[in-house]
Amino acid sequence: MARASTKRRRTRRGRAGGHTFLKTWGPSAPHVDELAISVVARYARDWGYLDGASVVTAGLGLTQLLSHPAAPGPLQTLAAIAFPEYADHIARMAFIRRHTTLPYFLAFEPRALAKAVLCDLVSGKQRTVYRAYRPAMTLCGQPERLRFCPRCLRLDARRLGGGIWHRSHQLPALTHCPRHGTPLLDSDVPYTGSPWSELRAPSAHICRELAENITKPLFGEALTQSVAAASIRLLGRSPGSAHVSVDAYRRALRVLGLGKFSRRVQTRAVVDDFSKWLRINGGEVSSLGPARWPESLFTQIESPTSPLQHLVFRCYLSDRLRVVSFHAGVDPEAE
Ligand SMILES: [Zn+2]
Repeated sequence: MARASTKRRRTRRGRAGGHTFLKTWGPSAPHVDELAISVVARYARDWGYLDGASVVTAGLGLTQLLSHPAAPGPLQTLAAIAFPEYADHIARMAFIRRHTTLPYFLAFEPRALAKAVLCDLVSGKQRTVYRAYRPAMTLCGQPERLRFCPRCLRLDARRLGGGIWHRSHQLPALTHCPRHGTPLLDSDVPYTGSPWSELRAPSAHICRELAENITKPLFGEALTQSVAAASIRLLGRSPGSAHVSVDAYRRALRVLGLGKFSRRVQTRAVVDDFSKWLRINGGEVSSLGPARWPESLFTQIESPTSPLQHLVFRCYLSDRLRVVSFHAGVDPEAE
């Protein structure tokens, strides 16, 4: 008992000391719509005159994990800086939900799985989460480089003294800035896989406004716009809110008259119908990845599909059915 309370006192004092240190020497609080990647990158930039990498590594308690816009990085430190008034685990949860793209990916998972991923991350099991969940985040539709909007970059430079990486610019299907409507450009920085200590903040040097850097749209204009709008909305939604069960897809296909045959015929009919719809809407099955992915959506015989594929398939179904929602469990807002 006595040992336990001593330990508690020590922990409290340790944390308070840590907060003071972070306040003075740590990274500055994240801005609205700023990625964890960006907070660390700005810190590295500000300390670059010292030995950047080791200051950043030691100061933030970085692990060997690699960067990803959906990854919260040195979560404990960043959460304490972003939400100093919150209890530790609430601050971590809030940081993940506001400064990573993870809410977008978790919206498509069953509620129980999404909650488990969040709980594991919050309790510090980042390694376990990445091993199990990273493949789902890196499926086709992932950009190659971090993106920026030239107008946002200029505004941030004027307002904040330097550029930041926006999380809303990094969603897989996005080609235009949600704020300015201008085409997004690819920077020189890889979308994922950089060591956290080597991240770079946006600057004119790595964010060049060249015509060849304009993000190539995956689909035609109409489809791109509806998928992009749905993607942005998902950032603010709860985990599991966009999940559609395999049965719900089957029911929707039956309503279309595509699900009443044997599985083989059904698959062929859906692929043909879906491909036709995609061509009309300016998309190609091949640009979405494996040609057999429509099949995998409702038979689960292939690798899991990406959120982007789900969004496109849902646009297809709601368009075909001419209704906003095709299943009671589907939120019409997510379409
Ligand atoms: Zn912008």
